[in-house]
Formats: sequence, structure tokens, C-alpha cells
Amino acid sequence: MTFQDFNFNEQLLEGVLSMGYTTPTPIQAMAIPAILNGDDLIACAQTGTGKTASYLLPVLNYICNTHKHHTTALILAPTRELAQQIDQQVEGLAYFTGVSSQAVFGGGDGMAYEQQRRGIQNNVNIIIATPGRLIAHLTSGVLKFNDITHLVLDEADRMLDMGFSDDIMRIIGYLPKKRQTLLFSATMPGRIRTLANAILTDPQQINIAISQPAAGIDQQIYRLHDGQKTPLLKKLLKDGGYLSSIIFASRKEIVKSLYKELKSAHISVAAFHSDLQQGEREEILLKFKNKQLPVIIGTDALSRGIDVEGIDLVVNYDVPGDPEDYVHRIGRTARAATTGTAITFVNDRDLKRLKSIEQLIEKPITEKELPEDLKSIEHVKEERPAGSGQRRDGKRNPKRFGKKKPPRPAAG
Ligand code: AMP
Repeated sequence: MTFQDFNFNEQLLEGVLSMGYTTPTPIQAMAIPAILNGDDLIACAQTGTGKTASYLLPVLNYICNTHKHHTTALILAPTRELAQQIDQQVEGLAYFTGVSSQAVFGGGDGMAYEQQRRGIQNNVNIIIATPGRLIAHLTSGVLKFNDITHLVLDEADRMLDMGFSDDIMRIIGYLPKKRQTLLFSATMPGRIRTLANAILTDPQQINIAISQPAAGIDQQIYRLHDGQKTPLLKKLLKDGGYLSSIIFASRKEIVKSLYKELKSAHISVAAFHSDLQQGEREEILLKFKNKQLPVIIGTDALSRGIDVEGIDLVVNYDVPGDPEDYVHRIGRTARAATTGTAITFVNDRDLKRLKSIEQLIEKPITEKELPEDLKSIEHVKEERPAGSGQRRDGKRNPKRFGKKKPPRPAAG
């Protein structure tokens, strides 16, 4: 199958080819005909599968063929990074068509808000928004959604995880009842089915081999204790010959302290976390994308949005609690049929999590031997994390009183 088979508008097809796409990915081959047919759709697909273009292309084709000059498509996404990336794909695919779009997200300064407001007032064809900021524009009265024919929910599971459920339903209340609704989600828990039942009509369903990492990823683990993690990471970054690497850690505090350690080892690195201003986050991503910055450290917030080609190494400094997050994290490398390496550090506490991941991906991950010089690093027993049974006032936490084992520190 080729993109010519979809009978797309000529200028749109030109955009597709100029992006270097020649063959539709499996999700595109299945979703595009269904959407062109006017059906509602519920699709289970992760980032990295080509899911964005699978809904953008038929929506763009509709706009090209109907010559509409007002906002006809609304795309909701969980994070500003994803909203911006979708917007960039629109810009690329729609380059020769004259279709316009505006990304709408929070966190910027007054100027960014004003620019978004102007875009909205100019009746851009497509609005790509995070739910919270869109509500702000809706209540201010600038947004008119009377002509919306297409609603897309991208990464719906993450939007629900982030507590956007009420906002989504409120936004949908502003939309015409007669519309085409497309729901994309990396996972399909019951909550997503409930949401789908509430907002979709007789949808077609597509399931793309959920939770299987791309075949081009060389997955490895190192069994080690915490004291060996940072020395091994430094070694991998300095001697591994990787040009573009992402390090994931479960908590912001770990990201910040790792950042300091790598910096002092003269590794060019940036930390990406929720304490940064939006401008700082964008600058880091841009440098990383342009290959001016070889290493970036972040929490799982980074694992969903970032769409950068040529990442050759992903390191999990700790094992993510949710096996799906593992797939999302390592999916940052080997995107769209390239290759990459994903290395996970596993200490004794994380063995159970590793097992869940191996069950999900249905294969064991290759264990690598620690470099000789790291084997001798002594295992210093970790102090109990703050809050695990001992209160600041010195009294025992009544809920935990009498429990034999202290709970694990919360991830995230
Ligand atoms: P997504 O799953 O939408 O995040 O897309 C993952 C990456 O694959 C993006 O960088 C897209 O530009 C790229 N991509 C999407 N469709 C195709 C295709 N048919 N051929 C090659 N690359 C594609």
C-alpha cells in the first residue's frame, strides 16, 4: 500500500511525500480509510506507531476538500510538548495546502496567551490544545466551536491520568453533537471504555500490537546496587559512543541530583522537570533536537511527548512502576524503523517490576555484565526515605504503626 491509494488532495499528498513518508504504517493503513469513511474511531496505539499522521491526514484532507475558513477540527492532548509536536506535524503535512493551525497550551507568559488568542480569533482551521488552557479561552468567550466537525482525543489515557476528565466533558459540551470523534490511547483501561461510550457513536475499533516495543530496540539490563548506578551511567555516556541519549528517573529529586553529578563529570547534559519555566523546557528540547545537547535527564513527563529522531540510547536509571511506562520510555529510541539501545538499571527492590515488564513484552531482557572496575563498589545500605513511618514531630505514623515492613518510596 502507498499513500497514493488514499486519493488524498494533491497538495496534501505533496506534503506527505516531502516529509519522507512513503509507506503507511499499520495504524495509518487501518485508521485512514475508517476516518475518511466518516466513522468514529477508538484506536489503541502508542507514540512511535505513526498515530498522529493517521488522524491528521484524513482530517487535513477533509479541510482541503471542503475549503472551510473556520475552525473545524479540535485536537486535545495531555501536554504542551505533545500539542506542539502535533502542531509541527500539521505544519509539515499541510505545508502546501494553506491549512492553518494553532497550538493552545498553558504555562507561557502573557505574550504566548495573546498569540494563542489571536490565532483562535483568526479562525485557524485546526486547534490543538491541552484541556486546561482551552477552558480558559472558552470561558473568556473568544472561542466559537459551532463549526467543529472533527474532535480528536490524543493519548486519552494520559489525559485521564492527569485529571482532565471533567475538563474534557466540559469542552465537549461546547461542541456540536453532530461531529466525527476519534479517540487514541496507548492503553485501554475501563475508564477509557467508559469515556468512549459517552462520546463516540458506533465507533470502529483498531488495536495496534499494544505494548510491544519497536523491534529495532536492543534492550539490556544491568543488575546492580544503587551505589553502582551513577558510575555506570557516567561510563556509558563517556565511553559508549552514543550521540543522543535520554536518561529517565522516577522522581524530580533524582533528576536534579543526577544532573549535578553528570555536570561535575563534564558531561554536557540538561535536566527536564516540572520546576522549569516553559521557555526553558522548550529551549532544552530544541537544543536536544538539533543535536547541540547530547544528554537529557527527565521524569516520565518526558517519555510521552518527545518526538526526536536519532536518539540512540535510553537509560532507565530506575525501573518504572508501570510496565507501560517502560514501553513509552524506551520508545523514545528506534523511532520509525531505526535502531537504538535501551538500558535499564535494576536493583534488588526492582526485580518484581522487571518481571512485570518482561511479562508485558513477552520476553526476557538480556542481562549485561557490570564492567570489572564497578563490581568492587561497596553496597552502602540506603537510609529509610523520609516519611516512611517516622513523622517530623517524632511521633509514629498511626497508619503505619505495627506494620512489619516500611512501604516503598512513592514513584513520580
Ligand atoms: P507518532 O507515532 O505519530 O508519534 O509518529 C512517530 C514518528 O514517525 C514521527 O516522527 C513521524 O513523523 C514518523 N512517521 C509517521 N508516519 C510515518 C510514515 N508513514 N513513514 C515514516 N515515518 C513516519
